[in-house]
Amino acid sequence: MNALSTPDPTPRFVTELLPASAATIARAAAALCAGHLVAFPTETVYGLGGDATSDSAVAAIFAAKQRPRFNPLILHLPDLEHAEKFGVFDERALRLAETFWPGPLTLVVRRPPATAGGAVVSLLASAGLDTVAIRVPSHPVARALLKAAGRPIAAPSANRSGTISPTTPLHVRDSLGGRIPLILAAGKCPVGLESTIIDVSGEPGTPPRLLRPGGIAREQIEALIGPLLLPDLDPDRPTAPGQLSSHYAPTLPVRLDALNAAADEALLAFGPDMFVRGGGERLNLSAGGDLEEAAANLFAMLRLLDQPHFRAIAVMPIPEQGLGLAINDRLRRAAAPRL
Ligand code: AMP
Ligand code: MG
Repeated sequence: MNALSTPDPTPRFVTELLPASAATIARAAAALCAGHLVAFPTETVYGLGGDATSDSAVAAIFAAKQRPRFNPLILHLPDLEHAEKFGVFDERALRLAETFWPGPLTLVVRRPPATAGGAVVSLLASAGLDTVAIRVPSHPVARALLKAAGRPIAAPSANRSGTISPTTPLHVRDSLGGRIPLILAAGKCPVGLESTIIDVSGEPGTPPRLLRPGGIAREQIEALIGPLLLPDLDPDRPTAPGQLSSHYAPTLPVRLDALNAAADEALLAFGPDMFVRGGGERLNLSAGGDLEEAAANLFAMLRLLDQPHFRAIAVMPIPEQGLGLAINDRLRRAAAPRL
C-alpha cells in the first residue's frame, strides 16, 4: 500500500477561524501552552505554531502538515532578549538581530549548553541539530501571541507539505481545515514571502552563510556584515539541512527492521514488543503503535541508547504511513554508511 492510499491518521478537528483580538490572542496563547497547535499571522506567511519545548506539540506540527521529513523548524520569540535564552548570539548575530529584528530574518545559531532549570527546545524541533533557527516577527498579532505564550513557538508555514505558503487565513483553512483546532485571522501577510535565513553558527572568522533568500535582501545584509557564503558555492556542503553532516546521527551503527536484538545491542522498539527477544537495553517509541508519539520520542530515545558499551542500535520496523515516512527517512539516514 502506498502512503497516499493509507488512511489519514491525524485526528479531526472542527477548525475555528477567529479574528485576532486581545481576547482571541489570549485564548490562542493558552491553547499553545496546553500543547495545541494554532495558525497565526506573521509578516511573512501564516505560521503553524506549537510549543517548541514540547516534543509532542512539535510532532503534531509535522503530522498536521503531513511532512515526509523532519526538517528543522524556526523558533519564534517576541524579542532578542528572549531569543538569547535559546541560542548563542556572537557579535555578528547580535548586529544582524539588532538591525533587522523584528522582521523577516531568521538566524541559525548554536544551542546554548543545557542549563539547570531552563526550558529546553525539543530536539525534534531542530531535527536533532546542535543549532536552532530563531526569528522575531514584526507582525503585531504574532508579537502579542508570542508574549502571551511566554515560550518559544516552533512555526513552519501553515500549509500541507509541498503546497504553496499561505498568506491569508482562508489559504490556511483550505490547506489545514479539519487538521488543526484554531486559526487566528488578521488578513493578508504584508511581506508574503518567507524569511531570509542566515547561518551564523560557524566558528568565528568563517563568513555567515545565506541558507534561504527571503524577505530581507542579501545586499542589505552584506552591507552590514560583509560578504555571505552562498549555498551553491560550496559543493562539500549540501544545502538541504537533512543532508548536512552536522545533522545528528548516533555514534553507534543503526540496524533497521530488527525483529530481535543481540545482547550487546540496544533496542529501539515500536508497538508491542513483549515477544521481541534480546537487547541490552530497550526503549519503546510507542508501545501502542502511535506514530505521532513515536516521532515525539525519536531523537531523545536515539540519544539515550547511543552508549559506547553497545555495539549497535537495533530498530524495529516502523510502518511507512503518516509520520512513519518522516521517522523512516530519519532512521535510514542514521543507518546509512558513514563517510
Ligand atoms: P519553514 O518550515 O518553511 O518555515 O522553513 C524553515 C527553514 O529553516 C527550512 O529551510 C530549514 O531548513 C531552516 N532551518 C531551520 N532550522 C535550521 C537549522 N538549525 N539549521 C539550518 N537550517 C535550519
Ligand atoms: Mg513551508
